[in-house]
Amino acid sequence: MPAVSNVLVIGAGLAGAATAIGLAAGGVAVDLIDVKPAVDAAGSGITMQGNGLRELRRLGVWEAVRAAGFPFSSLGLRAPDPAGTLLAEMPDARTGGPDLPATVGLPRSALARILINRALAAGAKLRLGTWVSSLEPGGDDVSVVLSDGSAGRYDLVVGADGIRSATREMIGITDEPQPTGMGIFRAFGPRPASVTRTDLIYGGPSYIAGYCPTSEATLYAYIVEDARDRSALSPEQRLAAMLALAEAYHGPWDDIRPTLTDPAAVSYTQFETLLVPPPWNRGRVVLIGDAAHACPPTLAQGGAQALEDAAVLTELLLARAVVDDAMWAALTARRFDRAKAVVEASCQLGQWQLDHEQGDVLGLLAAITALVSQPA
Ligand SMILES: Cc1cc2nc3c(=O)[nH]c(=O)nc-3n(C[C@H](O)[C@H](O)[C@H](O)COP(=O)(O)OP(=O)(O)OC[C@H]3O[C@@H](n4cnc5c(N)ncnc54)[C@H](O)[C@@H]3O)c2cc1C
Repeated sequence: MPAVSNVLVIGAGLAGAATAIGLAAGGVAVDLIDVKPAVDAAGSGITMQGNGLRELRRLGVWEAVRAAGFPFSSLGLRAPDPAGTLLAEMPDARTGGPDLPATVGLPRSALARILINRALAAGAKLRLGTWVSSLEPGGDDVSVVLSDGSAGRYDLVVGADGIRSATREMIGITDEPQPTGMGIFRAFGPRPASVTRTDLIYGGPSYIAGYCPTSEATLYAYIVEDARDRSALSPEQRLAAMLALAEAYHGPWDDIRPTLTDPAAVSYTQFETLLVPPPWNRGRVVLIGDAAHACPPTLAQGGAQALEDAAVLTELLLARAVVDDAMWAALTARRFDRAKAVVEASCQLGQWQLDHEQGDVLGLLAAITALVSQPA
């Protein structure tokens, strides 16, 4: 018998959907709610590293992910010069194991749809446009009232509601995300034939210009700069600002720039970081994913870390007979140091750039690669 028989999962992003799949497949009754009216509307792309792919395979969605995305196993470094000179092409570490590619780029909407469909097939019940109005911890359960007025008692509530988690606040954890000093333009658009993997250009007028193929037909391209308040820009002005920065970058950027014509496909986000100290639970309510730890995407590990949280939590709940302090200690032991290392390394990589300091980038990348290559 699993340690829980019914669970409320708040947030149907990567962490929440993955938890719903794992628990529902293990025979637990799962209610999965999301404040958004649709979970597959997010416009951009995501770079999913091998350790995240390993978790997606465990969830039974690897074939669907491979079919929807664009796998690749090398990384290019280009110069911010008029030719976009290719400086190096490096095999990328296969952190999910030799039988998975190093990376799959895919549209966020496609990944969300794949995970939600799998969660529904496993038996989870999904309610969109729904949030928690109140949570009241009992001894061995939690009483919950939802925004639609319905009430329920759950053996466990999983707060997988992202970096601005309302669950975190409801259980009295006051840690808040902090800005790291960088901001990113991201554009989702058509993939030119010249884009077959991620290439990064460091330097020039911005810190990083990069792109990631997300399917045969699509890519996302990004430019990282000093954080600015760009909230007053209209979508058209946002597109124009990104294109102006992109003028400095060449090679495949010369093929990408003319295709970036849809103002609605460009977003601007300031990088933030968060690391909630352990434990991540208060009684029978636990935080996972970005609700507990979030990092700037300099290592593209946030999604993979969210999936790993879900995998470990699910494994513990299904393997143990009771939810007790030993179970929460086991969650901390398996997840906290690993997530902390990823958060700190992601911040450090950005900080070296902000400080115009060389730093041991390769050493740090090697350390994180070795860490995340180990199963979660
Ligand atoms: C600019 C940028 C680029 C990134 N690029 C990458 C990348 O390439 N690769 C990578 O691995 N990671 C990347 N990340 C990080 C990655 O997006 C996150 O780590 C990941 O999405 C975390 O998953 P999550 O499920 O914890 O949270 P989320 O994906 O944020 O999901 C949270 C869900 O909870 C819902 N929700 C919120 N509040 C409530 C509420 N009150 N009630 C109910 N539901 C609620 C939301 O609607 C959402 O569906 C990037 C992050 C940023 C900011």
